[in-house]
Amino acid sequence: MKSIYFDHAATTPPRPEVVAAMLPYYHESWGSPSSFHSSGQTAREGMERAREQVAALLGSLPEEIVFTGSGTEADNQALVGISLANQKKGDHIITATIEHHAVLHTAKFLESHGLKLTYLPVDATGLVDPDDVRKAITERTILVSIMHANNEIGTIQPIGEIGAICRERDVLFHTDAVQTVGHVPVNVRELNTDLLSLSAHKLYGPKGVGALFVRKGVRIAPLIHGGGHERGRRSSTENVPGIVGLGEAARLAAQDMEWEMRHSAKLRDSLIEGLLARVPNSLLAGHPTQRLPNNTSVCVRYIEGESMLLNLDFEGIAVSSGSACTSGSLEASHVLLAIGLPHDAAHGSLRISVGRGNTPAEVDHFLNVFPPIVEKLREMSPISAGQSADDWPGADHPHHPPEH
Ligand SMILES: *Cc1c(COP(=O)(O)O)cnc(C)c1O
Repeated sequence: MKSIYFDHAATTPPRPEVVAAMLPYYHESWGSPSSFHSSGQTAREGMERAREQVAALLGSLPEEIVFTGSGTEADNQALVGISLANQKKGDHIITATIEHHAVLHTAKFLESHGLKLTYLPVDATGLVDPDDVRKAITERTILVSIMHANNEIGTIQPIGEIGAICRERDVLFHTDAVQTVGHVPVNVRELNTDLLSLSAHKLYGPKGVGALFVRKGVRIAPLIHGGGHERGRRSSTENVPGIVGLGEAARLAAQDMEWEMRHSAKLRDSLIEGLLARVPNSLLAGHPTQRLPNNTSVCVRYIEGESMLLNLDFEGIAVSSGSACTSGSLEASHVLLAIGLPHDAAHGSLRISVGRGNTPAEVDHFLNVFPPIVEKLREMSPISAGQSADDWPGADHPHHPPEH
């Protein structure tokens, strides 16, 4: 069997239509959108069409879309930009422990510059309690930032409800929707958001381009200063081909969303069911129903995620363990620890994220190949010896050696 790509939460292959839409902006209309001459103006038209396409996908106005260099930049722009613009109003930000590092590390950065941060906990399925948001808001709160869906465990938050609470208390609300835009319906008005981040390469677009929705009337300071592009919100000559690619990806996503949701959910459900049935001592991480249609996240006890990845890669199957940022280091994923998993279970995490191109045959192949890998690794693993399954999946493990 040819190689299988099951890592769409990390990045997605650019669709051929996306690449085709981008090429004219390299070969022909490569002028600067700020230039008066016609080459520049054609580039500007392409860029503005893309803005309309992204706005159409989100249910926003085109002028509420600010193009950025990535999803990470959009998150930084939201948190830092709102903090700078609201220095007189307050200094408190509320976020959650399971956020992507693009939000969490920006929050830490702001904390080191004197802002007060509240990191809300999540329950065992990864959900933030909207009531916790309500209770955490103070007179000094300027922003709440809660991600739409988690990139590791796929849990989808009650964003509309949280947004309504923020609006009622007159606090700005940002959501990192990088994992949901293009994959499930995302409407900025229905979700009651003031700011929303997305990234092109997570929805079959090019890498190195993202966008931040900023609701009309919201004051935000720029991160990048210069010639005043993007209505003064993000200076620098625009990445026109990338932006055009994002626009085309957004258009295609809207067109194909219903099909893709059904297609992915079917594969996901076979994966979850098959894995839990065929791999003893495994459990599903994240919410059983409120989860991304493409996300399967399991923890396989007594083995390291990294060894599973290596063995699967040897079979030509690309998956991920925790998030791409934490694999490669021995630190357990902050998300899996936040939902209360013990360290040893968090280390055995496996994320399988399917996409448009995957087939039921690929899922069947994976379900045949994977259980023997687990068996082999467990035979080799020193931590499996003498362990019983009866304490699974509890948080304390009397017969497990203490951490470090
Ligand atoms: C991928 C991702 C990001 C970062 O987006 P980039 O465009 O890769 O910088 C931020 N948040 C979430 C939830 C993501 O999955």
